Formats: sequence, structure tokens, C-alpha cells
Amino acid sequence: MAATLGAPKVLLRRLREIMAHSESGEERLKKIVVEIAAIIVAEVCSIYLRRRDESMELVATEGLNPEAVHKTHLARGEGLVGLVTETAEPVNLPEAQDHPAFSYHPETGEEIYHSFLGVPILQRGRAVGVLTVQNRAKRHYSDEEVEALQITAMVLAELATSGELGPARAERAQGRRMFSGVALSKGIALGHVVFHVPRVAVERLIADNPEEESRRLAEAVEQLRSTVDDMLARGDVARAGEHREVLGAYRMFAHDRGWLRRLNEAVATGLTAEAAVAKVQNETRARVVRQTAPYLRERFNDLDDLSNRLLRVLTGRTTASGEELPEDTILVARTMGPAELLDYDRDRLRGLILEEGGAASHVAIVARALDVPAIGQAGGILSFLEAGDPAIVDADAGEFHIRPSLDVVSVYKDKLRFKAQQQAQYAKLKDRPAVTTDGVEIELLMNAGLLVDLAHFRETGADGIGLFRTEFQFMVSATLPRLGEQQKMYEKVLREVDGKPVVFRSLDVGGDKALPYLRSNPEENPALGWRAIRMALDRPALLRTQVRALMRASAGREMRIMLPMVSDVGELKAARALIDLEIRHMERHGHPMPERLLLGTMIEVPALLWQLDQLFPLVDFASVGSNDLLQFLYAADRSNMHVAQRFDPLSPATLRMLGEIVAKARRHKTPLTLCGEMAGDPLGAMALVALGFRSISMAPASLGPVKAMLRSLNAGAANKKLLGAIAEETGSVRDQLEAFAADTGVEI
Ligand code: PEP
Ligand code: MG
Repeated sequence: MAATLGAPKVLLRRLREIMAHSESGEERLKKIVVEIAAIIVAEVCSIYLRRRDESMELVATEGLNPEAVHKTHLARGEGLVGLVTETAEPVNLPEAQDHPAFSYHPETGEEIYHSFLGVPILQRGRAVGVLTVQNRAKRHYSDEEVEALQITAMVLAELATSGELGPARAERAQGRRMFSGVALSKGIALGHVVFHVPRVAVERLIADNPEEESRRLAEAVEQLRSTVDDMLARGDVARAGEHREVLGAYRMFAHDRGWLRRLNEAVATGLTAEAAVAKVQNETRARVVRQTAPYLRERFNDLDDLSNRLLRVLTGRTTASGEELPEDTILVARTMGPAELLDYDRDRLRGLILEEGGAASHVAIVARALDVPAIGQAGGILSFLEAGDPAIVDADAGEFHIRPSLDVVSVYKDKLRFKAQQQAQYAKLKDRPAVTTDGVEIELLMNAGLLVDLAHFRETGADGIGLFRTEFQFMVSATLPRLGEQQKMYEKVLREVDGKPVVFRSLDVGGDKALPYLRSNPEENPALGWRAIRMALDRPALLRTQVRALMRASAGREMRIMLPMVSDVGELKAARALIDLEIRHMERHGHPMPERLLLGTMIEVPALLWQLDQLFPLVDFASVGSNDLLQFLYAADRSNMHVAQRFDPLSPATLRMLGEIVAKARRHKTPLTLCGEMAGDPLGAMALVALGFRSISMAPASLGPVKAMLRSLNAGAANKKLLGAIAEETGSVRDQLEAFAADTGVEI
């Protein structure tokens, strides 16, 4: 059968008439299927919509048995309709019944049809329905017909969203609900839901005058570009280095030719400029939903954000930030970029819920830096919420409550009051020494990685920064930060700490912390892959540039560099040789030099444990990275929730291992610290001090609770208790340590 030339335009014209003259949603649907069937010359046209139980309900048909309407439900993933839903892509088959996914429902009477074309009805990148056509003849539907169906699907998506198709919206859960997710940033927050991306309703879909739409699109793109340029030029953006770099990525996308071509093509089919933007955005989202490479997804988020900005320009809507934001905003999004979170007024932001987002995602890092309680991996939550819904984020428990009962609210208000009292107590401890009741002094250091972290430095009273994760600057940046940018960042860090020591860890990227501008091959086990010092030794310029930036920033003062993921003493020697080369280069060129350089290593790969006698004489200090060390020791992926919780860090194996590291460091007089999560948990920190650690480094929010613990602890008694427990127990010693804390009044 010949392709139906001009199908999209004809269809759009007819859809406009149907919209104008139909009374009810049901009537519209019926007219739409009749019209599509006629234009595509198909014997069948049907619409399926997703119901709350995830089934697909036949809601309108031309050609199939009308009795089947509202009766036929396809289970999630069932049949070709299920295939379209799952893949969110068109399925175009000359012989449907040969396809393994085909499923036959006798009540529909569809056994006589051979060819099948189904396109998804997409909302926020997810298929909420499917539009299909079928023919008796075996035919392959043309690209133009697919396009016509996609445009209709888009119109249907808009109608479904605005409630004009009836039940879809009514099915939204109204009751109270408790959901669980993954804690991205600890804490508790009460507030009201604000969507990060307020739905920009596209009311006008079909162009009256296509040339006019093309002009509107061009103007809006121009305006968008100059807004992004303005944002980049604005002084307050320049303040946050990481923020500025992300905006650089927006600018790149705003000039992306592929995107602009797709927008123009959509306008050429007869859509309005805003409908064209929404269509391209939806199709991109659908592709991204199935995209697993985390960094690609992050980049797509930039593009998605840009589409929203463009939609706002075209529809004259403003953003959801600034004055409009309620005082107690619980921000909800499918996902968002780190810079977008930085865009919000921190004073109004109480909590964050993301449908996606793992603990290692950039936005999670920023949420922790801003101290905003956040939950991730709250799959499908957007469809249960309305803007303004009351909500509670309990990231301590990895849960959140939607439309909570008054009882739940009052329990949480109590919890918050208690936390506030605790915080006030911790604040009082800021300038008090971290000394145990038996006089053991402990050095308490802070972990940081973004400039926003540093705002907390003075409040915490930390003795210095025990771990500065330099990779964060690289991760939030669109392009490789240049020497000058790196130097500026390090200078700012050093300015904030009032002369206290800062340990800069050299780049710990690679693996899952992939940088788009550093190409590497996909890896099956990224945590065990080409990362950190391995990458630095293979690409010496990377390490040398970073060392140069650090040396320039530290001119006239002490400079500490720490190498991550060292697994062999040879690697440390090779890195030292590179650093020495850089030092000689700087000296030759008469650059001002740091007063002295201290080189340290992370201990986070088990193989290093049997090289400590060779390693310690070569370094000025060492820090145990318990996050990685334990993941490798227990063969349990730290970012996989199913296995990360399976072992207890407070098990004899961990504690014996750590005790041996402490003993070796003492023998070699090598200053030792520990900078993994274990140090920030008061009970974990108690165990560390009992083992002999005299320096630990942790997230800013942990410093208060850990100091309170230390000041109520008798380190000698804890040491005896711990050694006894390790000797006699085969399992975790957690219970015994908790009992010790309770019996001796240690604040845990
Ligand atoms: C660690 O592995 O314990 C550590 C502190 O480094 P990161 O968490 O950045 O891998
Ligand atoms: Mg590590």
C-alpha cells in the first residue's frame, strides 16, 4: 500500500476539528480512532491506556469488537502493546502473529489482522498508553505514518494529563502512603511537594500558521541562548565554580545542531513550536529512561532542563524558584543535575525526593553538601503526587510519607525538635577539644569535595580537612577543568580553612565516576577497573597538571597530596616520580613553591595490607578508605543495596585488620587516619578509637555527634572491651559495643 503522503498535516487538521467539536473524552477518543483509521487506511485503530495496576486497558477502537472496550486488559508487558510500553518505541510489524510477544485475546476478534503498528503515548518519558493500527494485509507502515501516529499520541498524552480522557487522572492515589527509597542525604524534613519541573501545559498543539511557528521557535531558541549566556556572566554564578561549569554544558546543548534540527522537523509536520519542543523532549526522555550509562543520563538531564526552559519561554511561564517557592519545599523530580539543585533557595528547601538517583549521583553529593535530606530511587512516585501535597522525608530511615496523618506528623515534629536540641548541643561543643574522659586526644577532620561543603568548615570546629575529593570538581564539569580552574578551586579551599591542614586527594575518577570528556572503554566491573591512580599513571599529564595546580595554590605553605586506590608499592613510587618531575619543572621555572610537600596514600585495596612495611617508609601519612577497603574485603559492592548491607563493618575480620594497620603505622611512626563512612558513625568511631586510631575524618554533619561520643568515652575501657569481644565472638561485635556504650554512658 502506498505511503500516505502528508498524513501528519492532514491528521493534525482533523484533530483540531475533533477537539473543537467533541463533548466528552470518550467521544473524542472514538472520533480520533475513526479518523486515524481513515487517514492511514487501516482496518483497525485502537487506544490503550495504562491503569494503576500497570495493566493496559483498551479504551477506544475502530475495527476491533466494540464490546471489548474497557473489558480487554493486557497485563504489564503483555503482548505487542506491552512491548511498545516497555520499550517506549514504535513497533512496526508486517506479520504481528509471528512475533514472539504477540498475545491473542479472543474477545477482540483481532486474529484476522496481520500487520501491526503501535506507538507509545508518552508522559515524562514513560509510556502511559499505546496507540495502534492494524491491517489484514501484510504491510510495513511508512515513516510518515509512524510520524502521524506519534503526533496523535502526543495529543492524546496532553489530553490524558489535563484529565480530558477521563479516568487516568481520577485513578491517582488519593490516600496516605508511605514509600521507601534509598537515603541519599540523611536527615528528616517536613514540608510540601513542589515539582522541580512544573508541568508546562502545552495548550496549543496544532499550528494555525506553520511559518509563524517556525519563526517563534527560532526567536525562543535565540532568547534561551542569551539567557544561558547571561546566567554565565552573572556574578553570583561565578561564585560557585562547579555551578558555572555545568552551565557551560547547557550552553553547549543550546547550540546543539541535532536538537535544533529535530525541533524544526517537528514544526514542519504542523505542530506549534511548544508542541514540537514537547514532542522532541518526550522522545529523548523515552530513550534516556532505558539508558543505563550514568554519565550519559546526567548529560541528557541537561538537555531536558534546557527543553523545559525553552517551553517556558514559548508559553510565557516562569520557573518554580524564587518567591513562588513555599517556605517548606520538598522538591520532587524524576532526576536533576547538581547545578539545578544549587539553583534553589537553600532557605526554602527542606527535602528532596528523586525517582532515580543513586547515592553516588552528583545531585546526591550536592544534597549532602547542602545538608538537605534526600531520598532516591523512589520509582514511579511522580504519578502519586500533586503539587502542594504535604510530605515527610525521613532519609534516616530511607522512607517518605505522602499526605501523612496528623499522628505521623506529630511523631516527626517531635523527632525534629529532638534533633534541633541535639544540634544546639553539638554547636556548643565546636570549640571544645575532642578528648576522651581518660585524656586521649583525637584529631577530628572533615571530608569535603565541593565549595558548598566548605561553608560548614568553621561551624564544625574541625581540625582540618582529612579528605578533599578533588574529583567532584571534575564530575560536575562539562569539560576537563583547566589548570587555572583547578588552581582557583584549591586556592578557595585553602582560604576557607584558616591555615589548618588540607589533604587533597588526587583524582579518583574512572569506573562509575566516568567523565564524558575522558573516553574509556565500557567496563564490566568498574569498581575494579581503570580508575584513580591507574588512570593517573597511564595519563601522566592528568596527574601532573593537578599537582601543578596544587603547588601553585599552596605556594608558601604546606601541601598534602594523597593517592587513591594504590594497590602496589610500585604504583606509589611511579606516582612519586611524576610528582618529582613536576616539582623540578616548577623549580626550574622559578615558580614560588610550597613550604613543604607531604605525600600520603589511601589504604583501600586489600593487597596493600601485606606491603605496609614497604609502603609506610615511603609516605608521610596514610588514610584508610574503609568504604572501598570493606567492599573489596567482603566482595560486596558498596553501591548495591542488596549486598552492601550484608556484612557488618563491626565484625572481627574488619576490626582485626584495622588493628593490624594501626600497629604497623605506629611501628613506622606513620601518621594514620581513617576517612571512610565508618568514621562518621559514632559507634564505628568508638570502635576505631578503641582500636588505637587517633585521627578520623568524616562528613561535616557527623563531627558533632562523634565529638559528643568521644567526650563521654573512656578509650582505655573501650579498648579492653573491644579486644575481649573480638577474641570471644565469631560474629559482629556491634551488640557488645552498644551494651558497653549504654553501661558506661557513652553518647551514641
Ligand atoms: C573510601 O573509599 O573509604 C573513601 C574515603 O574514598 P571514596 O568514598 O571517595 O571512594
Ligand atoms: Mg575510595
